[in-house]
Amino acid sequence: MKIIGIEKTSLIDYPDKVATVIFLAGCNFLCPYCHNSTIVEGIGKEIKEDELIEFLNKRKKFIDAISITGGEPTLHKDLYNLLKRIKNNGFFVKLDTNGTNPNVLKSILDDKLVDYIAMDVKAPFKKYNLVAGAKVNANSIKQSIQVIKKSGVEYEFRTTVCKELLSLEDIIAIAKEIKGSKKYFIQNFKDAETVIVGKNQLTPYKAEELTVIREKIENWFAEFKIR
Ligand code: SF4
Repeated sequence: MKIIGIEKTSLIDYPDKVATVIFLAGCNFLCPYCHNSTIVEGIGKEIKEDELIEFLNKRKKFIDAISITGGEPTLHKDLYNLLKRIKNNGFFVKLDTNGTNPNVLKSILDDKLVDYIAMDVKAPFKKYNLVAGAKVNANSIKQSIQVIKKSGVEYEFRTTVCKELLSLEDIIAIAKEIKGSKKYFIQNFKDAETVIVGKNQLTPYKAEELTVIREKIENWFAEFKIR
């Protein structure tokens, strides 16, 4: 387990709650649009788990929830125990995942160690390798979607979109693959210095282009947003 960063207070990471965000190092994907290149590469000062728990407990009166993100948190063998410790301390817990480890997700969800799970659905299944920048077992992604949908835990699926990696048809194809899910959010790409592929390489969609998508797919989900 390598805890590599903490954002003390976030108002946007956990729906309707004040959260502290914890970053775990390393990822099995290399998405060209990723903003967390240093976290993916594991660059930064490590924070010990006991130190983290002490810090969180001191801040209990200021925060409701803890959001665990990465990198890809499910790559860490100790994730289960970390979630258990945080949950035992009375926090709401959210987990972000790329969905490559359905068995890890199942054990965490079965034991109710998270209250909210956000999974990236990066591409139509047949195009996953390109968008993830890695060789991906699409069956694992499909399994994770099913595990999450059946868990009874609050969840969202989300897709980051940019013109070079996903066409409008691709976005509709993704929505079709997860049609009937509770929440689906499209996140338009935002450029930054820390983007893995470098600044000025990828292009966000225009708002009016995404409006066309909204009209086609929003009724397929109980909640749909373009962020
Ligand atoms: S955006 Fe991609 S590379 Fe970055 S942390 Fe998420 S899954 Fe890993």
